[in-house]
Amino acid sequence: MKFCVSPSGGGGGGEGARGFGRGGGPKVVYVPPPPPEEESSVFAHYETGINFDKYDDILVDVSGSNSPKAIMTFEEAGLCESLSRNVTKSGYVKPTPVQKHGIPIISAGRDLMACAQTGSGKTAAFLLPILQQLMSDGVAASKFSEVQEPEAIIVAPTRELINQIYLEARKFAYGTCVRPVVVYGGINTGYTIREVLKGCNVLCGTPGRLLDIIGRGKVGLSKLRYLVLDEADRMLDMGFEPDMRKLVSSPGMPAKEERQTLMFSATYPEDIQRLAADFLKTDYLFLAVGVVGGACSDVEQHIIQVDQYSKREQLLELLKTTGTERTMVFVETKRSADFIATFLCQEKVPTTSIHGDREQREREKALGDFRSGQCPVLVATSVAARGLDIEHVQHVVNFDMPSSIDEYVHRIGRTGRCGNTGRAVSFFNPESDTPLARSLVKVLAGAQQEVPSWLEEIAFSAHGTTGFNPYGKVFASTDTRKGGSFQKEPPQPAVQNTSAAADDEEWE
Ligand code: AMP
Repeated sequence: MKFCVSPSGGGGGGEGARGFGRGGGPKVVYVPPPPPEEESSVFAHYETGINFDKYDDILVDVSGSNSPKAIMTFEEAGLCESLSRNVTKSGYVKPTPVQKHGIPIISAGRDLMACAQTGSGKTAAFLLPILQQLMSDGVAASKFSEVQEPEAIIVAPTRELINQIYLEARKFAYGTCVRPVVVYGGINTGYTIREVLKGCNVLCGTPGRLLDIIGRGKVGLSKLRYLVLDEADRMLDMGFEPDMRKLVSSPGMPAKEERQTLMFSATYPEDIQRLAADFLKTDYLFLAVGVVGGACSDVEQHIIQVDQYSKREQLLELLKTTGTERTMVFVETKRSADFIATFLCQEKVPTTSIHGDREQREREKALGDFRSGQCPVLVATSVAARGLDIEHVQHVVNFDMPSSIDEYVHRIGRTGRCGNTGRAVSFFNPESDTPLARSLVKVLAGAQQEVPSWLEEIAFSAHGTTGFNPYGKVFASTDTRKGGSFQKEPPQPAVQNTSAAADDEEWE
């Protein structure tokens, strides 16, 4: 059997790291292989799980005035024939709650901040109404223009996630006149520009590369109608907020009153919600499917108390029980990603790894090997925590606990997607992880998971609070939305909202 951990380092650090890559950095020559063209690959999808219909039982709250009525079926969405056909070919039979509510809100021209649990169909909730509008208006990308003027821009925090969103956009736009393009760091800039200049209606990008291409005058913003921030809380936290401000103040960017701004995530710390309002029209709607920041209830969560020195052995034991089932193992630093992956390979567990210091070619290979099952174990930093939708991921292991509860919610959300069930096992080391205990108890309880008594004890005796609200009280909304009945937490200490991806921040 072949064990396929990627070589470490590889000198690709520059492009993945903030502040590198433009001028001064090593020239990147990597050109990714084109995505498959055959229809069967474009529409390849996995089946919805046994809990898909239970999504309908989740409480939904829309705050704000004059919110449009939800749709119950895709027919009610009024999609044009080609889009409707592509939805069917994707295996979508009925909309998920975030789609039922989000699609009519976007189609009505409203700005939206939407929160729904991981894996519950947020991507289609924004792509379908945008594509529908562009198709019914008959936009067509021009191959002959030296400056492309997309109607929609979608930003996401990591290269792999934006590529995934692009592939979804390409799938839904298949066989139509709408052309999506993706731009992200770690690949050759000349190639990226040539792709954009072939025609671009929906531009998907990571912030650095997007700003670069706009700055080079290859993309004009005068026709922009939609700006989408996926993983919006991450896009507006300390790491990315300056880039988002730069983006919205780029020459030609329509003012917020003149464009539609849409934000999606599974988590929204309260201060980020307030900040997000700067980017939205005053009458935006807030859509909450379930509890804001809640974990996916289809993921069985286990917390195991460990000490630092027993973790490797415990991981090995655990992986013996998971066999060839796909497992993502999260660690806090790039160094430990290399270290743990090497350790597992030595122990004959077919493992690969991904983090922000890897060259893009290596990152894509690692993800490809994991997706195909050639390496059923992927050791990852937070660079893989958000958004990635990989079939057959049955297990998530938090080898190291993340420093924020939101990061925990995103990590475990790599399993239990689209109504399928999954399992997350987290190694809790009281020496280092106690500050997370209270919010962890809350998230476990909120998802009807068993809370270990030792964890409860730590939580109640700990001083550090990370937004724990022991009485489950619903705080009055400080938001301007009417109703405001979504669950609010008391103001939280700064630790909650520092970038969880500190060790592995990605810019391009
Ligand atoms: P997302 O949360 O957007 O990453 O979607 C999670 C997974 O659910 C993806 O594989 C989607 O293709 C799939 N999905 C989204 N909406 C639906 C739907 N209405 N019916 C079936 N599958 C869906």
